[in-house]
Amino acid sequence: MIKLGLLGKHLGHSLSPKIHKLLFKELKIQGSYDLFQEEEKNVHAFIERISKENLGINVTIPYKIKSISSLDWISKEAKKIGAVNTIFFNNGKKYGYNTDYFGFSRLLEYNNIEIYNKKVVVLGAGGAARAIITCVKDLKAKDIIIVARNIEKATSQLGSLINKNIKVISFNDFEKGNIEAKKDGEIVINCTPVGMFPNVDESPVSDNVIRNYEVFVDLIYNPIETKFLKKARILGKKSVNGMFMLVTQGIASEEIWLNRKIENNIIEKISKKLNDKINIVLIGMPGCGKSFLGEKLAGKLKMEFIDCDKYLENREEKSISELFEIGEEYFRNIETKYIREISLKENIVISTGGGVVKSPENMKLLKKNGIVIFINRPLKKIIEDIDTKSRPLLLEGKEKLYNLYKERLDLYESYSDYIIENKNSVDEVLNDIINIMDK
Ligand code: NAP
Repeated sequence: MIKLGLLGKHLGHSLSPKIHKLLFKELKIQGSYDLFQEEEKNVHAFIERISKENLGINVTIPYKIKSISSLDWISKEAKKIGAVNTIFFNNGKKYGYNTDYFGFSRLLEYNNIEIYNKKVVVLGAGGAARAIITCVKDLKAKDIIIVARNIEKATSQLGSLINKNIKVISFNDFEKGNIEAKKDGEIVINCTPVGMFPNVDESPVSDNVIRNYEVFVDLIYNPIETKFLKKARILGKKSVNGMFMLVTQGIASEEIWLNRKIENNIIEKISKKLNDKINIVLIGMPGCGKSFLGEKLAGKLKMEFIDCDKYLENREEKSISELFEIGEEYFRNIETKYIREISLKENIVISTGGGVVKSPENMKLLKKNGIVIFINRPLKKIIEDIDTKSRPLLLEGKEKLYNLYKERLDLYESYSDYIIENKNSVDEVLNDIINIMDK
């Protein structure tokens, strides 16, 4: 059993225990992650005591700087940033790291956001901004513009992080466009708490500013889409929230403590599970029970249910067989059109057509906001039960199922986040799904 936790002052709303609990489950390891709220005067003594009990701890506001004096060693990044958020206890020594830096660089990589030779605007100059500025400097941004409400305070706080390629300007100047960045700055990163719950109607910059840039990252993860990001999305810009970074910085801490690499697909699954608007998408062979299970699952979880085939039939006012008669390609294009529509919905259970996995576009749309579950039912059972008359691809006979299974199995497996064996009773299968979704 490994013992971990988070040290901070006010931790009531921390998502960290949930992130680490989900990770322990994914990695099948026994672990605990506790919250430690301490007064500033006790921080040093606390770190000394916990170093004898725990494998490590995370550190958050306001102790990311203060805790450095308790440590024997700090990493290169932590030194540059001037703050730690992860402490590893090993052989009587205390090692400090800053995984916000790695969380942010993996967020950029995951979302294909290129920093090299770009102009980057950072809103805010606090603790998180320090990690972000260090990261974009290391990634060789051409120029970095820091926008702060108090230029002197920000300049003195950032100290040695500022060099000739970094300018600090006021929000007023930024809004007025009195800077070169307005012409060709491509990326804006919000490192202020403006727009965070409960002040969800606030945005750190006006719509005019948003029109002039291409990519928007908000470190805020509650709400999932801030006003700032929503505006950017509506204007057709790339917009990314802070959830992936939050999860990744936690996972990067675990990588240090456990001395192992944790794959991006695990980070992706955990990030999605923390988003309570997530969809559950069931894929699998015709006759595997997707529609039946989907409807029951939605009922149990009090979520809306959409059967893609029925949705498509209603919208087109034609049956699947009639649409297939026109041609499979025609059918697949229509299927993608409606999957695009369905995937914009939130917090729903979706049962898909058996061939949905044949289109990478379909799966990209469904995976963006959904956990994909492959319902794997033994082929023998499907063949026993299936009614082939209503299934256009099976009109030639049940033997066709063997070919479809061979053709699609790899696709079902590779697109799924989880595989559920549909061998037992309906209740057991539903419980298995509810269990992996942590509902
Ligand atoms: P912080 O150290 O308190 O810094 C906040 C910064 O925002 C300061 O520069 C502050 O300026 C500025 N600011 C605050 N209110 C403002 C306003 N109304 N208008 C303009 N500027 C304002 O906080 P932090 O640790 O950097 O965190 C900042 C945000 O990032 C928070 O929302 C936090 O939840 C988020 N965050 C997310 C992750 C993640 O993993 N996704 C990680 C770290 C932080 P002054 O100095 O003038 O007050």
